[in-house]
Amino acid sequence: MQQKKRILTGDRPTGQLHLGHYVGTLKDRVRLQDEYDCFFIIADLQVLTDHLENYSSIESNVFEVMCDYLGVGLKLENTFFVQSQVPELAELTMYFSFLVTLPRLQRNPTVKDEAKTYGVTNISYGFLGYPISQAADILAFKADLIPVGQDQLPHIEQTREIVRSFNRVFGKEVFALPEPLVGEVPVLVGTDGTNKMSKSLDNFVAFAHSPEETERRILNMVTDRKRAYRKDPGHPDECFAFKYWSVFASTDTLLVRQECETAARGCKECKAQLTGKLNERLAEIRERRQCYVSQPDLVWDILATGTKRARAVATETLEEVREAIRISFPRLRVSIKGGQ
Ligand code: ATP
Ligand code: MG
Repeated sequence: MQQKKRILTGDRPTGQLHLGHYVGTLKDRVRLQDEYDCFFIIADLQVLTDHLENYSSIESNVFEVMCDYLGVGLKLENTFFVQSQVPELAELTMYFSFLVTLPRLQRNPTVKDEAKTYGVTNISYGFLGYPISQAADILAFKADLIPVGQDQLPHIEQTREIVRSFNRVFGKEVFALPEPLVGEVPVLVGTDGTNKMSKSLDNFVAFAHSPEETERRILNMVTDRKRAYRKDPGHPDECFAFKYWSVFASTDTLLVRQECETAARGCKECKAQLTGKLNERLAEIRERRQCYVSQPDLVWDILATGTKRARAVATETLEEVREAIRISFPRLRVSIKGGQ
């Protein structure tokens, strides 16, 4: 029997996951989890890129993200793991770093955007180089498919370049080219109507939010900037709330469009209705999520099992990598446990 192909994807534990993650990548993960051998990374070290000063909540954030995963319907049989607990990833990052030039890193459009959005003026070596660390996360597991939002595409391209140069420079086909898979909505704009919905920008609706909090956030949402008065006809194609209708309640869009364009519905009532639809869709996810939140030992056990499995796979890849680079040195292997 042919082995299942492998997926590697994940999130930074900077807070709770939200609707942007759902349509950008989580939905695909849920859909593909039976067909693929799935590895889900919680990339805690990557948080250091832009949250150096605010790292104290990392453990609770890892827990939250893990509960979000289980809440949206990812199954326990998948491999869930924490990046920092697989040190082989840092080692692989080191090897890959020699294959990427500085101008190449500086050209990465997502890194440039993030540096601007988060106001990182004195960009660190680690921030600039995080796409290399992401390549290591993907290639340590020899993943075939990477379900991600659109902002991650430059990083997958960088990963593919690393595959080509590694295999060429070291003369061995250690890695194959991974393919990205972008979700049904490549970029969901947040409730501010300007930026990508993002944990760091507080323009999001999280799975962890209560129905009331969801209502508050949706009612404050920016809608149609061209519609000044209730009696004016609306422009659904330029309205952010309408975008949410088409993503989360698509069967109603014809009616909503018609009522909006004829000014039969106002923005406030439109958003109130949308809140109802969203809360309906989120109810099951929230209930399942809450069930895991109340069982922290179980959640940490799932992560411990996954991290062990991830480490075993990464260790195997690293053996191969060291051999290709010719730094295996079998005669210098020291066992720190046995003392010989
Ligand atoms: P942070 O603000 O901490 O960077 P984030 O909300 O941007 O967090 P990430 O952890 O950077 O989330 O992204 C995780 C995955 O979710 C990536 O594949 C990313 O492309 C996808 N994603 C995140 N936000 C959105 C969005 N608004 N629309 C579509 N996909 C998204
Ligand atoms: Mg991000």
